[in-house]
Amino acid sequence: MPNKSADQATLIVIKPDGLKKSLTGNILTRLSETKLEIVAAKMVRVSRELAAEHYRHLQDKPFFEDVLRYLMGEFHDRYKVMALIYWGENAITKCRSLAGATNPEEADSVSIRGSYGRITTRGVYENVVHVSANPEDAQREIKLWFNPDEVIVDLYPSKKVVETVEKREWV
Ligand code: UDP
Ligand code: MG
Repeated sequence: MPNKSADQATLIVIKPDGLKKSLTGNILTRLSETKLEIVAAKMVRVSRELAAEHYRHLQDKPFFEDVLRYLMGEFHDRYKVMALIYWGENAITKCRSLAGATNPEEADSVSIRGSYGRITTRGVYENVVHVSANPEDAQREIKLWFNPDEVIVDLYPSKKVVETVEKREWV
């Protein structure tokens, strides 16, 4: 069944500065104003491959290496992020509006980025939270960060596969 609205789901990532500054609760409280539903959540140690794929639209920018290091946690000595999927009507529009502009100095001062973000002396916008920019990006990012089994609703078509895996078990 096709989506009722194209803007139904967004990836949210609480970036390493958000975790280091102990802002998880504050950010989730702010996002709860949207009345959207959280349909997936997990802690992730971000590899260079994941960061590079996530930010591939920035690969020609001079700050590409810095945003990879930022998302991987190298600037904060916090090698983890929290990834969530918010689901519901106009999810992207609602979450991006609460998050505020990319540049924390230009973000509305009561937005999440306006309240908690900063520009570092290296010039990186540390803006504590990622929100997908549009439905195409949301679908690409959600599929990149989550497996279908980690999401409690059927966001996109998926298929069952049987695979033989070698794994370790207790003796
Ligand atoms: N960024 C930066 N400097 C810039 C543009 C972007 O440091 O001039 C960082 C910032 O952390 C931003 C991320 O790169 O959140 C991704 O950039 P994008 O343009 O996708 O902005 P967003 O969608 O996060 O608002
Ligand atoms: Mg973006």
